[in-house]
Order: sequence, then C-alpha cells, then structure tokens
Amino acid sequence: MDHFQLKDGVLHAEDVALSDIAEQVGTPVYVYSRATLERHARVFREGLKDAGKIHLAFAVKSNPNLAVLKILANQGYGADVVSGGELERALAAGMKADDIVFSGVGKSRAELTLGLDKGIGQFNLESEEEGQMLAEIAASRGENASATLRVNPDVDAGTHAKISTGKAENKFGVAIDVAPDIFARLSKLEGLNLRGVAVHIGSQLQNLDPLEKCYTRMGQLLSDLRSAGHAITHVDLGGGLGVPYKPEENPPSPADYGAMVARVTEGWDVTLMFEPGRVIAGNSGVMMTQVIRIKPGVNSDFVIVDAAMNDLMRPAIYDAWHHFEAVQPTGDSMTASIVGPICESSDIFAKEREVDRVQTDDLGIFRTAGAYGATMANTYNSRPLVPEVLVDGDKYAVVAERIEPSTIMAAEHVPDWLK
Ligand SMILES: *Cc1c(COP(=O)(O)O)cnc(C)c1O
Repeated sequence: MDHFQLKDGVLHAEDVALSDIAEQVGTPVYVYSRATLERHARVFREGLKDAGKIHLAFAVKSNPNLAVLKILANQGYGADVVSGGELERALAAGMKADDIVFSGVGKSRAELTLGLDKGIGQFNLESEEEGQMLAEIAASRGENASATLRVNPDVDAGTHAKISTGKAENKFGVAIDVAPDIFARLSKLEGLNLRGVAVHIGSQLQNLDPLEKCYTRMGQLLSDLRSAGHAITHVDLGGGLGVPYKPEENPPSPADYGAMVARVTEGWDVTLMFEPGRVIAGNSGVMMTQVIRIKPGVNSDFVIVDAAMNDLMRPAIYDAWHHFEAVQPTGDSMTASIVGPICESSDIFAKEREVDRVQTDDLGIFRTAGAYGATMANTYNSRPLVPEVLVDGDKYAVVAERIEPSTIMAAEHVPDWLK
C-alpha cells in the first residue's frame, strides 16, 4: 500500500496535489512519501517478528537521498553501503557507525581504511584477497575488524540477468564449496574478527523458492563451519525481496518472507542481518513528468514527455516496466508509446501500451520509482540532474535540488593550451 492516490480527480502524494509540486518545483521530479517509507520499514520489521535477534540495514544504493536515509535511521535501520560515498551518506544521515555494513566486490584500500576510521559494524568480504587486505590494514592499526564472508550459493534467483548475483558465474562472493577452506584461512589472520557469513542472490525476487534454497544452503554451511570449530554469531541474509511494478503482480509479502526465514533459520542461534532496499523504497516514490507533445506514429502515437532515460534508467537497462498514470485522469485511455527527448532508441518508458489519455502539457507519473530511480540518474544529453521532493502530510520539501547544466559546466575546464 502506498500514499499516491486520487483525491478530487487529482493524484496526490499524501495530502499534497502532485500538480502543486509540478507548479512549484517543475518537472521531471521524483516525489517520495514519508508515510509510505515509514510504513514499509515497519511492515518489513514486523514480518521478521518470529526470526529472533535481527539487524536491519537499508540498502543505501536503492535510494541514497539524505532525507530518505534519515527517515530510515529514525525507524531504527542501519545501512548496507557499497562505497565510501554511501558510507559518508549513512553517517551524515545519522546512522550509527556500528549499524553499518560494508558490502561490495571492489572495496579499495582507501575504502577499507575509511570503514575502519569510522568504526563501522561489519565488512562483508567478497574474496579471500579482500580479507587479507582488510586484516593487514586493521592489524597495522592494532585493530580487529568485524567481518563476514560473502558466499555465492549458486542459486538462480529467477530474476532479470542484470540483477542476479548468486549464480556460480557471477562476480559476487566466494563459491559455497570453497567457503569453508577460505573461512578457515581468514579466521586465523590477525586483525580480523571473522564472525559469520553473508549472502545476497539478486533483486526483485518474485518468489520465495530461490531464497529458501539459498538460506537452506547457508544453514548447512553454518553447521559445517561450527563443526570445524568456528564461532559464528552473525548471518547476513541480504536483500532482494521484489515489489509489484504492475498492478497485477503479487510478489511475496514481508510477512510471507519473514515466516519462511523464521522456519528455515530456526535453531541457528545467530543475529540475522537483512539488507532490504527495493521493498522499502520502491513504492514510496514516483517520478512525475509533463507531456511535451503528441507525435503520430506508425503503430501508435508517441507521447513525448520531459523525463528521459537519464532520469529513470530502469526501462533502458533492465527492460523494466513502470506503470504510467495521468495526474488528472479524464477516464479515457489511449494506446501510445511514451518516450523521452533523448537521442537514443532505448529512451522509451512504455511501448504501445494502453494508458490514461494525455495531451500536451498534461502531467503524468511513473510509479514505483523510489528505488533505483533518482540514484541512477545522470545528465546525458546535458540535461539537468533530476530533483527530488519529500512529502509529509500536507507539507513537502525539495530534498535534492535540480542541478543545472551551468553548474556542471562550472566543474569543467578548458586547458590554457587550447585557448
Ligand atoms: C543491491 C543489494 C541489496 C539490496 O537489494 P534489494 O533488491 O534492493 O533489496 C542488498 N545487499 C546487497 C549486497 C546488494 O548489493
């Protein structure tokens, strides 16, 4: 459930008419609902009520906006970060260093050092080599870095190939069959407190079976590691729960997920860690756009909007579907392709789709844009960087400004020897 609903014929975010935001802030623009973010954070936590001791780390890469992170910090969430920049953001938003988990296959020496400087709670190691580097840096400082070893369980998540991470050929983690040997070698290193294992098999999972298979394998690994004499206190089960992008989609609920987790992990006697991203942020945001003009096409008309693939990349890179709705629907519909102004054929949000009828200057939204939306935006075609707005009841604030091409040009330099 979200708080983007029609009131008196106008789509609102909570109690604010989206048309008011368009008038004040302009388009394209991302709009987030605080109540929806808080609701999703609560529902995810409640789903895990029977799972024993848990730690929740919001996957910052899904939506790194400082105001969004602040809301999640206030809900008791820590952060799962995958870069030094995300680490700085989580801290700036008020998340406690101890509640931060550092994931990622290519953490650099500088990033590992930053994590130690800030005193983060846990590093999720993705290779033996990374573990050796972290141990060496920590030992040289007389410290002991808490870490888990990320395992690749060789499970097909059944999701889009570009967001699958847990198959043998993917770059993430170490293969589950060699994990016990690597764990044994790393656990002997001075500077490392190797306290558990981690897994994350992919994103936008539509079904619990691959997750259950994965967690069952982790349970076997846990008992193998304990049999070998290792003290395991933490198991990080990653993120990946899907959200409905189409009205008819029905992914597993946090309650279903939590029940499966409680069943599979019964008796593990560890702190279970979770890294949800999309399931918290996805349906908490929309991207609003304005129709520039309608252009006749061969199979159907083109609705040319002022948002483009640089503002919302998911359709172009994952063939993703974002549901389109008019902000002031007339009740009529039309078959159209919705496209942006960018000079690429992949700059298309909807192909010959039945949508609300719109015309020049009308406003529309793409739903489920709160995760992997604004954070992937760029300025291709020298377009402005898209702004973000947060709504709370009847008030709203710009939480990320539109960055104009002039600001970006100011950071570019033509060397003297070209002048
Ligand atoms: C991307 C990512 C997540 C979050 O995935 P969602 O599908 O958004 O829940 C969690 N953990 C790791 C390691 C990730 O890379």
